[in-house]
Amino acid sequence: MSAAVSTDDLVAWIRAFREAVTDHKDELTRLDSEIGDADHGSNMARGLDAVVAKLDPAPASPAELFKTVGMTLVSTVGGASGPLYGTLFLRMGPALSSSDGVDAAALGAALRAGVEGVIARGKAEPGDKTMIDALSPAIDAWDAAADGGPAAAARAAAEAAARGRDAAEPLVARKGRASYLGERSAGHIDPGAASSTLLLEALADTLAAAE
Ligand code: ADP
Ligand code: MG
Repeated sequence: MSAAVSTDDLVAWIRAFREAVTDHKDELTRLDSEIGDADHGSNMARGLDAVVAKLDPAPASPAELFKTVGMTLVSTVGGASGPLYGTLFLRMGPALSSSDGVDAAALGAALRAGVEGVIARGKAEPGDKTMIDALSPAIDAWDAAADGGPAAAARAAAEAAARGRDAAEPLVARKGRASYLGERSAGHIDPGAASSTLLLEALADTLAAAE
């Protein structure tokens, strides 16, 4: 098992996230049509297309990569999710050293810094039916599994994200556009929790392939 995640692995993660969002674009937009304004899939796909266009030549370090990803998402996605996903990546970069490889603990700490940034910016707590319902359990699961290496930690995080996404389905939204629906938001999967689960699943798949 490889202990270090390279910059190339992280670039592959971002490319895989773009593929996953593109593949699930219609589904994400359908989820957002039920409790929002039907733009989450197209917002994210547009932003990630712009991100991938900036990855050739590849950034020299994880910190540089995440800065590029975050700035591009902020400037191209719009809505609530652009600044929130942008913040996630912009906070991850500075949490990593500028060296090439990162281990499971360092990547977990960077993810935690990113998620804490999203919470600070969006003021959502677990149970508010947002992307935080997937991201927050994911970083806890990462830490609990980090001793097994980055691929195992990422798989545990992805599984926790999916459980968090599903656990939020019956809840009433308390943040974002879906909260305008009140009780009618219950019984629908939150689109941001769905895309955040794709983010962690893309990382788990990428790191499994890199082992
Ligand atoms: P918009 O709601 O502006 O149309 P999107 O449709 O792209 O933006 O994204 C909606 C998603 O953003 C929601 O499903 C939810 O997960 C997330 N979201 C909205 N507001 C917040 C918030 N305050 N904190 C965390 N996530 C949020
Ligand atoms: Mg929307």
